[in-house]
Amino acid sequence: MIKIDLHVHTSYSPDAAINPKTLVEQLHAHPFIKAIAVTDHNTVEGYEKAQALASAYPDILIIPGVEISAINGDLIVLGVTELPPEPWSVENVIDFAKKRNALTIAAHPYRTRGLGDLTRNCDVDAIEVLNGAAPSQVNKLAESLAKEMELPGVAGSDAHKADELWTVYTEVQASSGLDEILKAIKKGMVRVGSTQKSIRF
Ligand SMILES: [Zn+2]
Repeated sequence: MIKIDLHVHTSYSPDAAINPKTLVEQLHAHPFIKAIAVTDHNTVEGYEKAQALASAYPDILIIPGVEISAINGDLIVLGVTELPPEPWSVENVIDFAKKRNALTIAAHPYRTRGLGDLTRNCDVDAIEVLNGAAPSQVNKLAESLAKEMELPGVAGSDAHKADELWTVYTEVQASSGLDEILKAIKKGMVRVGSTQKSIRF
């Protein structure tokens, strides 16, 4: 079992300020979260930096990812180190991910820049049901959607600043191998959790 923050931005996102070095050091220092997905806006540069720094720490895992500003809303792709070709329609992004055995997540579907009810028409692998930057009512709507679509529900802090890291996490029934983790998420072998008593889910 591994606990992962599946939605983290670095300073390579235009609106975020987390230095990859700080990110890696804080992940190494964390008592129980031992993996993160770097999901910068439309770039994998932050992932590359974090991954290079993380090689010094055998106990942590950096999952490659990206949060694509698709035309109808944000989509997280995990398991890729390159961007999909444009135009970024939801279909194109999902198609790109499927061809690479990557995983797609509807990010915060009912928050700003979420896919909203359009998610129902999308062949995503999972729904972000607990977003650390979304109010609980918004997360509840996402949770209902995941149930209705019979899709796994995952969690990520959506941290843009260092003090927003690890507020929530996804517990995956897998060891620390990337392929195994992605497969387990697709199969729904997940549970979401919060490190903050104030966040209800
Ligand atoms: Zn985000």
